[in-house]
Amino acid sequence: MLVGVPKEIKNHEYRVGLTPGNVRQLVAHGHQVIVQRGAGTAIGLTDELYTAAGATLVDEPQEIFARAEMIVKVKEPQPHECCMLRPGQILFTYLHLAPDPEQTRLLQQSGAVCIAYETVTDRNGGLPLLAPMSEVAGRMSIQAGAHCLEKSYGGIGILLGGVPGTPPAKVAVIGGGVVGTNAARMAIGLEAYVTVLDKSLDRLRQLDMQFGRRLNTVYSNDETVEQAVLEADLVIGAVLVPGASAPKVVSREMVRRMKPGSVLVDVAIDQGGCFETSHATTHDNPTYVVDGVIHYCVANMPGAVARTSTFALNNATAPFVLALADKGWRTALTDDVHLLNGLNVFEGRLTHPGLAHLGDVVP
Ligand code: NAD
Repeated sequence: MLVGVPKEIKNHEYRVGLTPGNVRQLVAHGHQVIVQRGAGTAIGLTDELYTAAGATLVDEPQEIFARAEMIVKVKEPQPHECCMLRPGQILFTYLHLAPDPEQTRLLQQSGAVCIAYETVTDRNGGLPLLAPMSEVAGRMSIQAGAHCLEKSYGGIGILLGGVPGTPPAKVAVIGGGVVGTNAARMAIGLEAYVTVLDKSLDRLRQLDMQFGRRLNTVYSNDETVEQAVLEADLVIGAVLVPGASAPKVVSREMVRRMKPGSVLVDVAIDQGGCFETSHATTHDNPTYVVDGVIHYCVANMPGAVARTSTFALNNATAPFVLALADKGWRTALTDDVHLLNGLNVFEGRLTHPGLAHLGDVVP
């Protein structure tokens, strides 16, 4: 199969759909890969590395869209990219179509076979192509929060782990899933005093088994959240209710009563945010202050560590890319119900139940 990798064109998007290592694997399976010149340069994946891996470099994205049988990307295609897709061509990337009727319509018109990373499933009911980005965002949230606690970023001036003779910072992580677990792990590593709150007792049991007495686990309700937030120097918002907007677990009133110079990092901002005072920010201008509390609410946190994120994503996508290339979409989707769950648009029709509000869903 001829596989194409265009350079990402969204603002400040430096990730790339295939690493040279994954190109090499495809080539070893007898496939051809064309990569747009400069696609990975910004994160140290040079054109030379792609050539050495067996890729052919091309200058224009038009050539990739015109020739490739499968396009492998990271972010959803922009409108003019959608217009270059062809009937029967495979598009494998993050799509996030549910809140995006415009992109959905363009993909329907393209006739392409559009498979979304974010709806591919695994046998445990998880989302294996979303999890790596949650791992990155969870680990980054503590790094971002630690910076925000410094005076120059507007924080109260606390070092997360303290030093001998001074208390460590108190970190409250609301939601103990993939993001929350990774945030807790980093905060524990920096020797902060860490509490995770979750509504799932099973999650809390697993966290307790994993971290033992280095982590406090607390069942999440209005009372316990309020207590943890008012005591905390750093609060990480990491809740998710699948298929729904994030619940507002911290009210404006609670924020008003927090310690001045404390920090909220709302990782759940891509689902609307779990603090009432949150609104989405960007890496260019990541924070703002409400009632003396620093808010960090960047909606695409993994973009800041694009090299790590690219490798993490590629590790997870590799077996699916290979299956699609080796077998073709028809057999690959028939053989693997989890990959089939990734199919969102097929021959102009919407195929994922999560898109029912945008039109007919064909099973
Ligand atoms: P997950 O499903 O693994 O974990 C979510 C956890 O929240 C679950 O354990 C659930 O029991 C818990 N929860 C639900 N309601 C709760 C409540 N009221 N109180 C306490 N806990 C509650 O999800 P995840 O992968 O950890 O993702 C968390 C959020 O982070 C999602 O909204 C995801 O989209 C977002 N995310 C954002 C970025 C970013 O760049 N901002 C990157 C990756 C993920």
